[in-house]
Order: sequence, then C-alpha cells, then structure tokens
Amino acid sequence: MAVAHRFDVVVIGGGHNGLVTAGLLAKRGFSVCVLEKRDVVGGAAVTEAPFGPDFKVTALSYVVSLLPPSVVRELELPRFGYEVFPQHGYFAPAADGSALQLFSDPAKRHAELSRFSRADADAMVRWDDWLGQLGAILGPLLTTVPPKLGSKAPGDLLDLGALAWRLKGLDVERVGDVTRLLSSSAADLLEDWFEHPRTRGVMGVSSIIGTWAGPRSPGTAYVLAHHKLGDLGGGQGGAWGFPKGGMGGVTQAMRQACEALGVVVKTSAAVANVRVKDGRAVGVALENGDEFDADTVVTTCHPQLAFLKLVEKQHLPPRFLRAIETWKSRSGTVKVNVAVDRLPEFSARRGFDPEVHGGTIVLSESLDDLERAFQDAAAGRPATTPFADLCIPSVFDRTLAPAGKHVVSMFTQWVPHTWAKQPDRPALEAFADRVIARVEAVAPGFTASILHRQVLGPHEMERDYGLVGGNIFHGELSLSQLFHARPAVGFADFRTPVRGLYHASSATHGGGGVTGLPAMQVVRAIVDDR
Ligand SMILES: Cc1cc2nc3c(=O)[nH]c(=O)nc-3n(C[C@H](O)[C@H](O)[C@H](O)COP(=O)(O)OP(=O)(O)OC[C@H]3O[C@@H](n4cnc5c(N)ncnc54)[C@H](O)[C@@H]3O)c2cc1C
Repeated sequence: MAVAHRFDVVVIGGGHNGLVTAGLLAKRGFSVCVLEKRDVVGGAAVTEAPFGPDFKVTALSYVVSLLPPSVVRELELPRFGYEVFPQHGYFAPAADGSALQLFSDPAKRHAELSRFSRADADAMVRWDDWLGQLGAILGPLLTTVPPKLGSKAPGDLLDLGALAWRLKGLDVERVGDVTRLLSSSAADLLEDWFEHPRTRGVMGVSSIIGTWAGPRSPGTAYVLAHHKLGDLGGGQGGAWGFPKGGMGGVTQAMRQACEALGVVVKTSAAVANVRVKDGRAVGVALENGDEFDADTVVTTCHPQLAFLKLVEKQHLPPRFLRAIETWKSRSGTVKVNVAVDRLPEFSARRGFDPEVHGGTIVLSESLDDLERAFQDAAAGRPATTPFADLCIPSVFDRTLAPAGKHVVSMFTQWVPHTWAKQPDRPALEAFADRVIARVEAVAPGFTASILHRQVLGPHEMERDYGLVGGNIFHGELSLSQLFHARPAVGFADFRTPVRGLYHASSATHGGGGVTGLPAMQVVRAIVDDR
C-alpha cells in the first residue's frame, strides 16, 4: 500500500550534492528527506566491493580536491571519518624506460624538469604563478551565482553590476589571459609555455579528464584550469588527495553527518515523478507508489533524467526543454579497477617509492599521444593507445586491501561515447586489456599481479549510476555549457521553471567533480526564497 510522508524539503539523489544539500538545510532548521534510487548513497563518489569482502575499490571518482573546506567544517565531516591523504605529485613513466616526475616540492620539481628541459623547469615556476593569479579570479567565480546575461530586469542588471564589481581588479592584460584560458585549446596554451613533448604530455592530462575533446580542441584550456581550482584546506590550493575509504568514505561521512542532523536518508527509493500543482512542486512519488509531500523539491540527478523523465513536459517552457534535450553529455571514459597481489614496480624506479606509488601515475607521453586517442574515439573506434591516470589508494589506506595486496584505480579515455546506448562488452574488455598492456610496458609483471578486475564503461555509468551518456560531470565542461549556460541559459541560478523545484547536480554552475558547490548555492537560493 502506498505511504504518504511530509517534509519541508525532499532531495532527489543521494550523491554528494544531494547529501550536502540535505545536511546544510537540516542545519538551517528544515526537515529534509533524501531519496536515492540505488541501494547505497554516493552516486559517482562511491566505494564498492566487486571482488568480495577483501578488497574495496573507489569505483568511479577517486581523488578529492574541489570540496570546499567550509562544507567539511560545517558538516563536521572529520567527526564522521572524513580524512584525506595528500597525493604525492605526478609520475609519468614512458615505454622507453624513462620517467618524468612532477614532485610536489618546487625545488625537486625544478631539478627533475631540468633533466628534460631547463627552459620548461623555469617556465613551470612562472606557469604556477600565472595560473595561481587566474585561479584567484576564476575560483571565486565558481562560488558566484551566474547573472542572467542579457536580461534587462532591474534585479538581473544589479547582479551583472555586482559581477563587474567583483572583477574590478582585472586589468586589460588579465582580461586577455582569461579570454584565452576560456577559449583556447590546452595544446595551444601548453605549446606556448613549454617545449618538451613529455612536459606537455603530462600537463595536458588535466585538460581532457572527462571531456569529449582532445587537447587540440578549443575550450580544453579551461578544463585544465578547472582541475587546478581546488582547495584542500590548510592553504594547499589545487592539491588533490585520496580520501580514507575511497570516495565512498566521503559520502558515507556525509550520510552520517546528515543523519546526525536529523535528515532521513532512504535508499532503494527511486523517484518516478515530481508532483506539480498549479505550476508549483508539491512533492514526489516513488516508483513503488509512495508519496512525499514537500514545499521544496531539489533534484541532484542528471538534468536529462530530472527534466525529461521526472517532470511532465507541460510544466516546462519549450526553450528550457530544448536546452536540456540538446545538453551534451559525452566523455568516452572507462574506469578499470584491479586488485593486485603486489605493488607495480616501474622500470624507471625500482622498488617502492612513496613519491611514485603514493602519487598519480600518468600514462601520457605527449599531446599527440592524447590527441590520437581522442581522434580514434571520435572516428568511432576505442583508442588504440588509451591514456590512463592511475592511483593506488591502498598505499595510504590499509583498509582497502589485505596485507601485501593493493587496489589500483585506472581512469582511462577514450571509447566511443555512443557505447553509452550501444555497448560493446568484448571491445570494452579489449580496451581494458590495452590499458593494462600500457601499464605492463612501464611496469613489467603488472599483468601477472592482477587478481581481479572491474571494467566500467559509458553504458555501465549510464545504466547503473545515472550518468547519462557516460559523462562523468553530468554534462560536458565546454564553454557553451558553463557559467550562465549551465544547465540552460536563464536557469543558472539553481532554480527551475517550476516554482519550488530546484536543481543542484553537477550539471549546474560550480559542478563537475566532487565540489559540493551546487549544494551550497541551492541552499542559499532556498533560504532566500523563503
Ligand atoms: C569515472 C569517474 C571518475 C571521476 N573522478 C573524479 C575525481 O577523481 N574527483 C572528482 O572530484 N570528481 C570525479 N568525478 C566526477 C564526480 O564524481 C561527479 O561529478 C560527482 O560525484 C557528481 O555528484 P552529484 O551529487 O552531482 O551527482 P551523482 O553523484 O551522480 O548523484 C546523483 C544521484 O541521483 C541518483 N538518482 C538518479 N535518478 C534518481 C531517481 N529517479 N530517484 C532517486 N535517485 C536518483 C543516482 O543514483 C545518484 O546517486 C568522476 C566521475 C566519474 C564517473
């Protein structure tokens, strides 16, 4: 029999944005319920045990950086087990047996880069400074509600004025830099700064994470900057780290924080539709028929799920519907998670090295290497030589694997994005074989050390985790889908065409990664509207 419930706010989706929204609202005195379709919270930030109880893998996302320290503090996440082990730089081994290492320590990084190019070593110091200055401008914009550009309404013009005031520190030269960063390809930018293909190759990786674009596509320079905007707290701007318990450790801590604040979190609770009366959201109905009444509903699931499946078309203006229908949500990403019986040993660094095994291991030898992999997928073929970003969180976190054994997380690109709807399992497994072969080439014995493997492609991401099209950020971070256009022009303020229905998924401004920024903004919007 259908059951009725009543809350001030119902949140659809128990990913990190849903949980942060719920926790922050509960702190402000609202009664809140989170409804999650899967049998576990976390969404794309989840830890799983696909190989049995001995191993835990961070199934999809794997490093944290962009989550604001204020969210961590306000929800008191450390009290619930939130802990982050800082990542130790980047290690980029090559098939010729050499390796380029980007140490966290600036002096060591300079010395290492000088082995390849003294000019690049010097340029890196200036680059960090340059990017840091641009980060100081763009970072705060991530926490600004985008104004309704083009609107002549007095309130919107005031918002625009406030934005201009915020940017008053920009001079002519800086505006040029920002324009360039937003519109260039990463390759154009990096080739102007650095000369050695290996430096460019390792630096280019941040520009293509989760993109359906190679480093030579315009707009990828922004993606590079987006990945550098984080703040781990303690002044470690842009640093990335491995959360204890995998990314599921972050969302489990969020769930506990929510429950301690009185939030009701329901899993295996798939929302079937948002109930709308007289143009206003009045609650939701679950697939099992249960109904939840609420004055405020917040969706944190992919916008094409929320607005094309959960809300009846008649409640949405055609312009908004068209924007959601044409929303680009491709990335051709594959996650390969393996359990191994020993740590990989790299030809370029024998034995255990905390700077190597405790860092991110990057398989990208040049920008051309990355671009070729994308061009394969753009032509409808999985990449012959896939790019991969590896990490071994069990080096820090011994709860993830038995003594002596480890879990290796491999984030890889690209396969055709069309595999989200038309999967090709044999070709996906063959792609994973090529990723593993690429690791084998720099760490002989890796293949033989594998005990289990899990391969998640665009189809699994869409079907099992709600990442439509397989895009890891609920929508591409392309210029046409950023700021006032994320997720639709005129609706970037976390409100939707339906009164009382709000949107705070990664497809809103500040989203794309485990940032919690959409959640912070939607809470402000809800409180302001009361
Ligand atoms: C392979 C991969 C690697 C990544 N790596 C990183 C990384 O290292 N660092 C980083 O910061 N980010 C990373 N990301 C991106 C990041 O994980 C996501 O942007 C972020 O987790 C999305 O959070 P969210 O809360 O907005 O949405 P989600 O986590 O997608 O949560 C939405 C939730 O809504 C639920 N849902 C959907 N439909 C319904 C319904 N009808 N009823 C109820 N619930 C519903 C879904 O099950 C899901 O749990 C990665 C993503 C992927 C896929």
